[in-house]
Amino acid sequence: MTRFIFITGGVVSSLGKGLLSASLGALLQARGYSVRLRKLDPYLNVDPGTMSPLQHGECYVTDDGAETDLDLGHYERFTGVSSRQSDNVTSGRIYSQIIQRERRGDYLGGTVQVIPHVTDAIKDFVLADQDGIDFMLCEIGGTAGDIEAMPFMEAIRQLSIELGRGRSIFCHLTFVPFIAAAGELKTKPTQHSVKELRSIGIQPDILVCRAEHPIPDSERRKIGLFCNVPESAVVPALDAKSIYEVPISYHKAGLDEEVLKAFGLVHSDKPDLTQWEDIVDRIKNPEGEVKIAVVGKYTVLPDAYKSLSEALVHGGIANRAKVKIEWIESDTFEKPDAIDRLEGVNGILVPGGFGKRGTEGKIAAAKFARENNVPYFGICLGMQMATVEAARNLAKFNSAGSSEFDDLDNPVVGLITEWTREDGGVEKRTSETDLGGTMRLGAYPAKLKDGSKVAEIYGTTDISERHRHRYEVNVGYVEALETAGVSFSGMSPDGSLPEIIEIPDHPWFIGVQFHPELKSRPFEPHPLFASFIEASLNQSRMV
Ligand code: GLN
Repeated sequence: MTRFIFITGGVVSSLGKGLLSASLGALLQARGYSVRLRKLDPYLNVDPGTMSPLQHGECYVTDDGAETDLDLGHYERFTGVSSRQSDNVTSGRIYSQIIQRERRGDYLGGTVQVIPHVTDAIKDFVLADQDGIDFMLCEIGGTAGDIEAMPFMEAIRQLSIELGRGRSIFCHLTFVPFIAAAGELKTKPTQHSVKELRSIGIQPDILVCRAEHPIPDSERRKIGLFCNVPESAVVPALDAKSIYEVPISYHKAGLDEEVLKAFGLVHSDKPDLTQWEDIVDRIKNPEGEVKIAVVGKYTVLPDAYKSLSEALVHGGIANRAKVKIEWIESDTFEKPDAIDRLEGVNGILVPGGFGKRGTEGKIAAAKFARENNVPYFGICLGMQMATVEAARNLAKFNSAGSSEFDDLDNPVVGLITEWTREDGGVEKRTSETDLGGTMRLGAYPAKLKDGSKVAEIYGTTDISERHRHRYEVNVGYVEALETAGVSFSGMSPDGSLPEIIEIPDHPWFIGVQFHPELKSRPFEPHPLFASFIEASLNQSRMV
């Protein structure tokens, strides 16, 4: 029997609902339960794939090719459970399905309404693909009281009744601010937020209270009294130095125990948190330090590169090293002499991105790394730009470029118009195709060259990684580039799409067409990130 935990947020956004959900998932797993996590997003985009990372943070891609909210990245990093298309839904997707059905005539004669049609569709989403797991954690995006979240709140209220007693609980994350002038913590915003929920028929079972200062028992009692929950179910959540401390902190604050109690599940044993203790120990007691320059386009918003910065931390965990990230806007390097800024870094990473702005800066960063023997890791656009750099400066194709940015007759990086899926099906695109959901998305296999650096790093020649791109390195240039010193050490199984380039006579120069950061976990750092940080540590010892 699957039990459901509905996680809502109140007072303000950015309190860490995603981390709360992910950490609770990890704690339940540490007690031997199986979990899945889901995110219900109230906005009207069908998925976050068409939103700028500067608006909404990174778009997280699943193995099955869904473009999803970045919280799904937290879920995977904390629980190791791979997310699927059926784990993220938006109002936009729900409405577009309902409107399609209406046009088809499915509701002929009926009036289509938020209740019951939209709420039914939301409930179907929550209940789909349970796979017999013990707990389904459903996070509702936005904040209690938001107009657009109303149908979701109504749907989970209905579900709690339909599922029956003991099958679902509500966990509400709120904020208890500290007013410096008064020297006091204030509980009123929490009271109002819970009042908002209760006015629509949702009585939270557990209140998780984010606070910058410890919440005295007297205040917890007061919150419990005014919000109609037992004092023990008012769980304080103080700021943590590392997000990977959060599961342990929540356990110490009693969260997992309160959740089990709310379901009437009696437990005497403790969760096994050794893996989390080891991770925290490695983060808190590093034995070395590296400085990595991330040369990207969305560096003003770290959430735009969430999985990437976490994967770098994981690379540090693997090597017991502290990773200091220097975020650099790539167009910086389009000014004369600015490239000197890379002098003191131990590794350079050029991440994925879209659009022309800053691409010449990325090419300059790749050139600097190649010429100065600085470890270089190019991801997706970062691989494409490193290939253009090598085509221009090693193979002497002076006008090499990508058709994403310029009208080129024979581009080194060009639009993919046809490719084969893992199941053998063929996908076709043209430059006229809709932009939403039409990239090469999700897991695709690649074959690695025997004896290559990447084969050594992965410890195998067969890999599968997640993709999200529309352009591809032109296989027609492979021969010329290989003669010039670039090895195409990873290809699609049919040999038509370059997946990995490396420069064998460089300490560490690797470009990958996929996004390895999406599969890295603190307890299982991605081999490419672990190896990149190791190479950067070696570089730091040499300077
Ligand atoms: N803009 C490039 C493409 O579409 C790279 C995409 C990416 O870096 N994710 O191919």
